Amino acid sequence: MPRIILDNIRKNFGAEEILKGIDLVIEDGEFTVLVGPSGCGKTTLLRLVAGLDEVSGGRISIGDTDVTDLEPRERDVAMVFQNYALYPHMSVFENMGFGLKARNIDAGEIKRRVEQTAAMLGIIDLLGRKPRELSGGQQQRVAIGRAVVRDPRVFLFDEPLSNLDARLRIEMRTELLKLHRALNSTAIYVTHDQEEAMTMGDRIVVMDDGEIQQVGTPREIFFHPNNLLVASFIGSPPMNQLPGRIADSRFEISDSGVTLLAGSLATGAAVLGIRPEDIHLPGDIAAERLAGEMMCRVEVIELLGARAIVTLAVDGLELKAVFEERHIVDMVVGQDLLVVLDQDRLHFFGAESGLRLN
Ligand code: ATP
Repeated sequence: MPRIILDNIRKNFGAEEILKGIDLVIEDGEFTVLVGPSGCGKTTLLRLVAGLDEVSGGRISIGDTDVTDLEPRERDVAMVFQNYALYPHMSVFENMGFGLKARNIDAGEIKRRVEQTAAMLGIIDLLGRKPRELSGGQQQRVAIGRAVVRDPRVFLFDEPLSNLDARLRIEMRTELLKLHRALNSTAIYVTHDQEEAMTMGDRIVVMDDGEIQQVGTPREIFFHPNNLLVASFIGSPPMNQLPGRIADSRFEISDSGVTLLAGSLATGAAVLGIRPEDIHLPGDIAAERLAGEMMCRVEVIELLGARAIVTLAVDGLELKAVFEERHIVDMVVGQDLLVVLDQDRLHFFGAESGLRLN
């Protein structure tokens, strides 16, 4: 499977600049997820790779071929859409085999490939049915199957799971990853769902407003976000952001008198980012890693099951913490609560630039 190189890709619709120079290399066999807020240009970029739209500038290569000026069918990519796009009057077998038939592949070979793929996707019993006789999850499997039988060089997925209910989405997520491992294919997967990005991507590309904000493994993106945008987009509940000031290796949360160890960072206005999972109860962090403590008031407790999201107030600021249920059995709304923070898990960003400082 080939690598994909996007070199300074630009796209304008009318006077509007939608993609502002995207540089990205997707390695052979890699599952890359494009994630970002609605309208940031993810689908536009995917359509350019597929050849469904023309670039306004830049080059796209797949393997050793510059495909920028090639027709979609000459690029040997298969795209799976959110809305399945199955032919309603054709059976599952015909839908899956359609692309092969159009390439004049012989009937025996089509049958072999469709049946093999259907078995892999667990839809072999559905080959005689029409799309209207299938559930949403089954239709999406057929749409994926139709892409797989073609044995393309590259798979492009545009929010393929977003029409499915939450439970089926999680199931299909795992299925897709298994399929990817089995096929060892190169894939680009677009989603606006940060959890899908975290769980599925070998690498994640976070986009905003037509630009790449950060490229990294899920761990890099989660534990070392480059800027406030990435920090707030990835993670749920989102990272807490507390404004304040750094001076003398300490950070003071605005007007609160609460100070924390910040390490040797330049003096100035800053934003402290803390993930809800990184707010702890006293005793949970080794003394040498302690950045400081905060006295808070418990405002809301939302029990999820094994864990709970707790909203805390500190000097007029609100922040969310995630605690294990067994640690908060006696916690009540309105009580005071001392929490502690881990030095290694504090993220500092410039107040003006939003860029990471530590
Ligand atoms: P979503 O997650 O909502 O699908 P996205 O990140 O995939 O969003 P795109 O669909 O790529 O975003 O759209 C990016 C921007 O380009 C949007 O502002 C959209 O309105 C605009 N756009 C997309 N296609 C066209 C088009 N054919 N003509 C004009 N503007 C377009």
